[in-house]
Amino acid sequence: MTAYPHLLRPLELGHTTLRNRVLMGSMHTGLEETRDWNRVAEFYAARARGGVGLMVTGGMAPNKEGGVFPGAAGLFTPEDIANHRIVTDRVHAAEGKIAMQILHAGRYAYSPDCVGPSAVKSPISPFPPKELDEEGIEKQIADIATAAARAREAGYDGVEVMGSEGYFLNQFLVTHTNRREDRWGGSYENRMRLPVEVVRRVREAVGPDFIVIYRLSMIDLIPNGSSWEEVVQLAHAIEDAGASILNTGIGWHEARIPTIATSVPRKAFAWVTQKLMGEVSIPVITSNRINTPEVAEEVLAEGCADMVSMARPFLADADFVAKAAAGRSETIAPCIACNQACLDHTFSGKLSSCLVNPRACHETELTYAPAETPRKIAIVGAGPAGLSTALVAAERGHAVTLFDRADRIGGQLNMARMVPGKEEFHGLVDWYETMVAERGIELRLGTEVTPDTVAGYDAVVVATGVLPRDPAIPGQDAENVLSYIDVLRGGAEVGPRVAIVGAGGIGFDVAEYLAHQGESPTEDPELWQREWGVADPAEIRGGLAPEGPQPEASARQITLLQRKSEKLGKRLGKTTGWIHRASLQMKGVQMIGGVNYEAVTEEGLQISRGEARNDPETLAVDTVVLCAGQVPDRSLADALSDAGMPVHVIGGADVAAELDAKRAIDQGARLAATL
Ligand code: NAP
Ligand code: SF4
Repeated sequence: MTAYPHLLRPLELGHTTLRNRVLMGSMHTGLEETRDWNRVAEFYAARARGGVGLMVTGGMAPNKEGGVFPGAAGLFTPEDIANHRIVTDRVHAAEGKIAMQILHAGRYAYSPDCVGPSAVKSPISPFPPKELDEEGIEKQIADIATAAARAREAGYDGVEVMGSEGYFLNQFLVTHTNRREDRWGGSYENRMRLPVEVVRRVREAVGPDFIVIYRLSMIDLIPNGSSWEEVVQLAHAIEDAGASILNTGIGWHEARIPTIATSVPRKAFAWVTQKLMGEVSIPVITSNRINTPEVAEEVLAEGCADMVSMARPFLADADFVAKAAAGRSETIAPCIACNQACLDHTFSGKLSSCLVNPRACHETELTYAPAETPRKIAIVGAGPAGLSTALVAAERGHAVTLFDRADRIGGQLNMARMVPGKEEFHGLVDWYETMVAERGIELRLGTEVTPDTVAGYDAVVVATGVLPRDPAIPGQDAENVLSYIDVLRGGAEVGPRVAIVGAGGIGFDVAEYLAHQGESPTEDPELWQREWGVADPAEIRGGLAPEGPQPEASARQITLLQRKSEKLGKRLGKTTGWIHRASLQMKGVQMIGGVNYEAVTEEGLQISRGEARNDPETLAVDTVVLCAGQVPDRSLADALSDAGMPVHVIGGADVAAELDAKRAIDQGARLAATL
């Protein structure tokens, strides 16, 4: 008897059956743009072997003007069709099913050729769209239908028509972007004409025995978004036009409410999909912040949807479904929703991967082959770099001993998990604990390692991490000064008025930690909705609360400081930095750049501005917290080198600048693949 009866139940679609209720949602990984079709095929085939019910590819452009950026991939030539055939054949050989997403970006296209219902520029693209005329609209419909027919020719099992997240079809639905007065604008019947016509023509082009998913924006999270009656009306019309499945879209890309970041509660928007249940007779899929089989099962058992879409969890672990089906869900590498190696890469024009699983999108290049000669390997430091090395080395058959002077594994992950909004880090540390045991790694915690401890091993890996950088501020040894370690690890007493020195990832984390009191909104969906101003779309168009965000008051008066004069938080994650900034601003955290730290006094922190350092002022605070970056802890590496022992130095002990768990884990895995 499985623990996931709803999740693992097949889904009958008439002409075909899906083996379970799990959809791997569309992700733009950048793989197609590499034009290495073997690599693309292996990415999807690995997930098909892992048991997922149906996969959706990254968005394929139906034409030049609809591409997300110039040169975006699509099925334009016979050669493209043949290349996609490589992918679909490999997926089918692995007994999987795959649908191709057709994504027309409309005014979101990063291109001077972009088009839209009206010439209303989007806040996230510098290019104003050209308003389409009747002929132009017909061309878009024809191109989308042709893309669907070509997808069928390329061997896909279906297509997903992207109608949400504020893309082209979504742009016709709301008056905010559709100012037309012809038959494609004005009344809702007119505004929804395009998406409905697209689905009708797609169905006509592909025939009855082909999956057509329509991704429908169920809560726009923008002013003047769709009303709930309109959402239901559209859902009916899309069903009548021939869609086989409705997938959920949450929020436009320009919305100022986080929808998938790690601080969003798990299954935060399943209630929105649930409102549509019973309204249509085709299956409905829910989505967003569902990352474990337990949560997915819960969502289905609660009747929120017929099927669950998860995207990033399949980067973290290709075998998600197979492991769940085998009753081994604790061995699933968890997606912590950090976006650091997936969406942040996509939006920087880089190939996606996964912080937790560096093999994601690198399946053909980073392989963990069994070691020819198993060796005895000592790894010092059980933070992300050391853990990653240990797991891969053990997987390859080496005998691994993992040392740490702390009494638990996790290193800096143990600080991250203390921060409200970063609760997913608990699951990551738990997973490492499970896998250390699973792979038979000898764990020696509470051990201060010296060259003698590791004498006798065939290879030694030093992953001893970092030490806090000393900002050398006069007076910093006083009792009112703490390090981020005292705060996040030790729970040190912090006064009601705080100055934070340094506004990198850790400065922001400390500010978030100190601003909160009581339960983290990430653990309390109603509180989270209130904080960000999310309302029921049945009560207010687009689901934006009229009163706006209503955050809880900050637990402290906080000032966050840096020496650089640039905007604070500028270097945080590309897709998440704005959330950290907005969250602290909502809490009234003051952010000051361009300062010099003159001294810590009994009154507080004395700062000055600019090169002239004139007119120093004192910030009256009770506590100063130092978050001035980190330097490598190389003491053991140096001692081993002095003793003439060869070592591999990785993670923060190697390079501390711009260190994060992504680099540490990747470096560890790549080293272990070669040991
Ligand atoms: P960091 O991001 O490098 O930030 C260090 C901060 O200290 C900067 O604000 C810097 O700003 C300041 N600073 C540097 N030298 C200083 C000095 N001598 N005196 C005073 N201030 C100084 O380092 P971190 O905050 O320690 O974070 C470590 C790593 O963990 C980072 O790479 C970070 O990305 C990662 N991390 C990421 C997240 C995340 O949310 N993704 C969260 C936590 C940590 P000025 O030089 O302008 O003063
Ligand atoms: Fe999930 Fe982070 Fe991996 Fe992206 S990089 S798939 S968000 S764990």
